[in-house]
Amino acid sequence: MDESVMLAAVASHPLFMFSGDGVILLDSQGNIRQMNEESCRLTGVESGYWLNHSINELLDMPYRDSFSRHLEGALQGRSSNMEADIRHRAGHTIQLTLRFIPEQMEHLNLAYVVLRDVTELKRSVQLIEHMAYHDTLTGLPNRTMFQIQLAQMLAAGNANTESVSFAILLIGLDRLHIVNDSLGHNWGDLLLKQVGERLQLMMGRDHLVSRIGNHEFAVIYKRFADTSDIIEKTRLLHQNLLSPFMVREREFVVVGNIGLAVFPTDGTDMDSLMRHAALVQTVEKENGQGIYRLQQDDVTSDSLQRLELEYDLRKALKRDEFELYYQPQYNIQTNQLIGMEALIRWHHPERGMVPPGKFIPLAEETGLIVPIGDWVIRTACLQNKQWQDAGMPPITVSVNLSLRQFQKHNLIGDIVKTLKETGLDPRYLELEITESMAMDNIERVIRKLNELKDLGIRISMDDFGTGYSSLQYLRKIPIHKLKIDQSFIRDITQDPDNAAIVSTIIAMANHLKLEVVAEGVETLEDLRFLLNKDCRHAQGYYFSKPLPKDQFEQHFRQQ
Ligand code: C2E
Ligand code: MG
Ligand code: MG
Repeated sequence: MDESVMLAAVASHPLFMFSGDGVILLDSQGNIRQMNEESCRLTGVESGYWLNHSINELLDMPYRDSFSRHLEGALQGRSSNMEADIRHRAGHTIQLTLRFIPEQMEHLNLAYVVLRDVTELKRSVQLIEHMAYHDTLTGLPNRTMFQIQLAQMLAAGNANTESVSFAILLIGLDRLHIVNDSLGHNWGDLLLKQVGERLQLMMGRDHLVSRIGNHEFAVIYKRFADTSDIIEKTRLLHQNLLSPFMVREREFVVVGNIGLAVFPTDGTDMDSLMRHAALVQTVEKENGQGIYRLQQDDVTSDSLQRLELEYDLRKALKRDEFELYYQPQYNIQTNQLIGMEALIRWHHPERGMVPPGKFIPLAEETGLIVPIGDWVIRTACLQNKQWQDAGMPPITVSVNLSLRQFQKHNLIGDIVKTLKETGLDPRYLELEITESMAMDNIERVIRKLNELKDLGIRISMDDFGTGYSSLQYLRKIPIHKLKIDQSFIRDITQDPDNAAIVSTIIAMANHLKLEVVAEGVETLEDLRFLLNKDCRHAQGYYFSKPLPKDQFEQHFRQQ
């Protein structure tokens, strides 16, 4: 076939004409023998000009060698792809993907190159990548980027035997919410932007400034001479941060609290470095001494240990570190299992089991008791319902309430919701309160307890006898049960005072038609004494210690 006829056949092929991609046909010299309209549009030149010119003229310099290699491959029968930038006749650069497809016509080795414009696609991929790693408000790297860079620094630092150090700095702007609350988020946003700019300006390109939280920035100091150098730098940064910002002709002073952590002294992994910096931040916030750093001895001090425990406690729920143990309660006259008390346990990843006496007061102080308490009620109800569904005889589960939990206004609504969601009948839930909780605001307490009672939930008075108990109140407060504190049961057979107290409480409770449970029954003698005094219910190591759910279930089945 005549070559011109052949090329004309190519030009009129529907794929060549209508594929929507640029298509060119090259000969073994790399000269253009045929090109479609789309390829003229992509390059911005007339087809007449390019015919029999080398395509190399189109390509930006760095791509020419690679192009020749791909063409060579195609002429030998191999398909391949490459990416290249070309210069459009109008002057701008276009990013293309090039697909090389071998072609044989008569005895000629030729190659098709399919050109696709990916400029827009690349730009949007870049934009998405940028957005994934940057904060849109300040344009600074975000938390993800910060973590990636920190992880890289740590990997390099830990692999290196020579002394490498770097430091992280957390900067919290805890008064910013005042601006947001009083003037609106717009103002806060403008202020944040300026804070970001100022930090970036101070740190320059050598260190990484990022916004890792709503009102929190972080810096990775990648290089510094020694610790005193970095503390000095931090002091300057703090001072600089304190000079006023102007937002819409109004002056704002931002107070930041800053915490430093230095690798490797203060930690060799992300978690410990971050935790250390956050601790220092808290100390700074409380004392404001401008030291930005703690000596190792400070770290072991009591208040810091508490802070550390608090820090961990905040994460414990999310990390699923809590567990409920169940301690059986018996009717000692019939020897029947009648209930169980749910007791929380915290499995700390490093400290092991932390007893409730250690963390419940802390949780109470910090307000963390509310979510923790919700978890306890939900878990206890769910477990009790599961045992009932498995065919075990229905018994009551008692849950300890703390003061703050008892005072929260939506306690009842939340409990109703939990009961509904878990499907547990309210009469199988018992709440334990203490005397001090009950005496807080007596009228309100009575109202609340009555509401609970009306729902069918049972109420017991825990640790009875240890607080300020007034008989007068005891008659008014709607409770079902008294739990005699274990300190009275101890030595009951030796200590005549305790024996008298216990006998009196039992007699009084019987008179008021309240159930009584003796807590902390450890020996057969204790039990005999209680039986003698007409006590009906008991709980204690004599019967069983609090047990994890599987062991409790075994115990339950043996009954
Ligand atoms: P509590 O409610 O008076 O619980 C009884 C405590 O006495 C439990 O300690 C239990 O293990 C222990 N005990 C039971 N029988 C005996 C015995 O025969 N001898 C001795 N020596 N001790 C016995 P635990 O589990 O360490 O709990 C201590 C306290 O922590 C509880 O006292 C309760 O006030 C609080 N607590 C436990 N779980 C929770 C919870 O989920 N929420 C709240 N708010 N407080 C809880
Ligand atoms: Mg209790
Ligand atoms: Mg108790």
